[in-house]
Amino acid sequence: MIDVMIIGAGIAGLTAAVYATRAGKSVAVVEENVYGGQIVNTPEIENYPGYLAISGVELSQNLYDQATKAGAQVLFETVVSIELDGEIKLIKTKQNTYEARTLIIATGVKRRLLDKPGEAEFSGKGVSYCATCDGAFYKGRDVAVVGGGNTAVDDAIYLSNICRTVYVIHRRDQFRADQVLIDKLQARENVKILYDHVVERIDGESAGTVSGLTVQNVKTQESAALSVSGVFVAIGLQPNNQIFEHLVELDENGYIKAGEDCRTNMPGIFVAGDNRTKDVRQLITAAADGCVSAVGAVGML
Ligand code: NAP
Repeated sequence: MIDVMIIGAGIAGLTAAVYATRAGKSVAVVEENVYGGQIVNTPEIENYPGYLAISGVELSQNLYDQATKAGAQVLFETVVSIELDGEIKLIKTKQNTYEARTLIIATGVKRRLLDKPGEAEFSGKGVSYCATCDGAFYKGRDVAVVGGGNTAVDDAIYLSNICRTVYVIHRRDQFRADQVLIDKLQARENVKILYDHVVERIDGESAGTVSGLTVQNVKTQESAALSVSGVFVAIGLQPNNQIFEHLVELDENGYIKAGEDCRTNMPGIFVAGDNRTKDVRQLITAAADGCVSAVGAVGML
């Protein structure tokens, strides 16, 4: 029997693991992908307290080392369902079933899809959702970034160091990213910003490579073709909560309902990080949720 089971080894989940193991409890973290979560896609973090700058990969590695050194077990398995047996939580993965006294759901969010012709066809063949992972493939070439939040602006800045031209396609005339990032982006000479534009379709060749984009100006309705080899989609996030919808209460957008105490409507089940209802989704608030949920879970044992 595991005292605290955590689903998701992102910043929230690993922080919860550090706190729960340090409280002397047995802790297992299940992760189906790489540890670190979304932040591994961020090349340079400048707003995490105590670091002037650190890469997402380095921060994730530090936190993983901290959690495992404290005694947390990290299991690389995919959770398929959760069942309740009285107060015991049965966590079923593709390989095993685990019994836990308390559960912390820290599954985060995934990138939203554009849902335009060509996106699925060229996904992984010119359409990417991770500039840090795939940017190097487009060295010296022309690319487009779609979106107007921190991720899109961060990605465009990163790509402007590698690519010849970076088009940023945003559906409004104002970014929602932090001003410091917008200023940095606008200072880049090889970045061309197309405000008030949406993607109509992603064009490609039969060989399975992207050759361009068709965009539309939402104010004039005019369409235009852009010649690019890569399209980076950065239009926001969707919570990874599908398998929990019968277990805990979700809001209309699919986020698990919880307040700052990270308690769901089910006793002994907590939610930490970006996949819960909250106003501010940042690294620091994910880490804070990890702490709060672990203290809450440990307090029930
Ligand atoms: P986001 O802040 O939700 O921004 C999504 C962007 O995509 C918005 O500009 C939105 O346009 C646009 N968009 C949404 N759906 C669209 C569609 N169907 N077609 C075209 N455009 C669409 O998402 P994010 O940038 O991924 O950031 C997520 C969270 O992580 C945020 O809280 C962000 O602050 C945080 N983050 C922080 C950092 C950092 O601090 N360095 C880095 C990365 C992410 P509208 O503006 O018109 O809504």
